[in-house]
Amino acid sequence: MEKATLLISLIEPADGSLVRRILTRFQLANEEDPSFRLHGKGLMTLRLEQEGVDDGLEEIRAWPGVRRVAKLASGQRLSQMPATPRRERVAVTPDFRIGAPDFALIAGPCSVESQTQVTEIAAAVKEAGARMLRGGAFKPRTSPYEFGGLGRRGLEYLAAARAATGLPIVTEVLHRDELDLVAEYADVLQIGSRSMYNNALLFAAGRHPAGKPILLKRAFSATITEVLEAAEHILLGRFQAGLDEPRLILCERGIRLFNDLLRFSFDVSAIPHLRARTPLPVIADPSHPAGDRRYVEPLALAATAAGADGLIVEVSNYPYQAWCDSAQCLSIDEFRRLTDKAKVIARTVRD
Ligand code: PEP
Ligand code: MN
Repeated sequence: MEKATLLISLIEPADGSLVRRILTRFQLANEEDPSFRLHGKGLMTLRLEQEGVDDGLEEIRAWPGVRRVAKLASGQRLSQMPATPRRERVAVTPDFRIGAPDFALIAGPCSVESQTQVTEIAAAVKEAGARMLRGGAFKPRTSPYEFGGLGRRGLEYLAAARAATGLPIVTEVLHRDELDLVAEYADVLQIGSRSMYNNALLFAAGRHPAGKPILLKRAFSATITEVLEAAEHILLGRFQAGLDEPRLILCERGIRLFNDLLRFSFDVSAIPHLRARTPLPVIADPSHPAGDRRYVEPLALAATAAGADGLIVEVSNYPYQAWCDSAQCLSIDEFRRLTDKAKVIARTVRD
């Protein structure tokens, strides 16, 4: 008996009689079979254990209403490193790609506070070597009484900072209903660590018609398997959207371990491990695990030495005044010193 998972993308919205015909072709009685799932309006997945799966697949491929089919062997994943290893590069703009052999420097404030703030920081981090601007307009805050971001106005400020400096922008999307809005402004959609388990958001972001690259941050309680399965939800969305490129970047940003005096513990081993398991670029955020500006540089350099494809760092012209995450925010000079050292290490690691 062959064990396999089939991915079947249908012309949307899925036609119920076609779904039933496909289920019958694979000897499943009805839509209530636990090995069948309909994701969104047009993606079927089937976990099968039977002979002749390939014949069935070939047959349904030609059926009207079937857009695309694929088969994963048992345990195989879309995010998996292929048998002949290679590395993906994610094109953010025609002249900025994330992935080996390039080393991507991304910097900016934790949150967008005003037009002046974000434009000044964008110009300063660009001058210090950053190739992309970060900044949250929708902020996931632990307390409901803290500043939650400027929302749409924050996105407009980011877009103006991009126009002024030419830097592309990465910004967080928190909710599925806000995907259209954030995708209209962002060059890269950030899915933050608190959203890594939001499967509906992951799938919807992956299948969004704008096809924007996604930066997925590891949840601070997530095992590596959970990170990879979260990536799988995004890649399943890409499959349904008809995109062959994953356009996905993973980010290690610290997990909860035994050092209760640090904000998070930076899992440096996740970087070579994820890069071995998947062809996706893996970058590091040294700011959030540090929680304190004194520790940002050592973590950034450790991540670079471990083979990270880039760094995303919180930086401001006025780090002590930042409305959010001020304690871990670097000044422009501190960022410049960090990047000077990181670039040397990145070059050595790539030799
Ligand atoms: C951020 O990058 O602004 C952020 C909130 O990070 P994380 O999701 O990793 O906590
Ligand atoms: Mn932050």
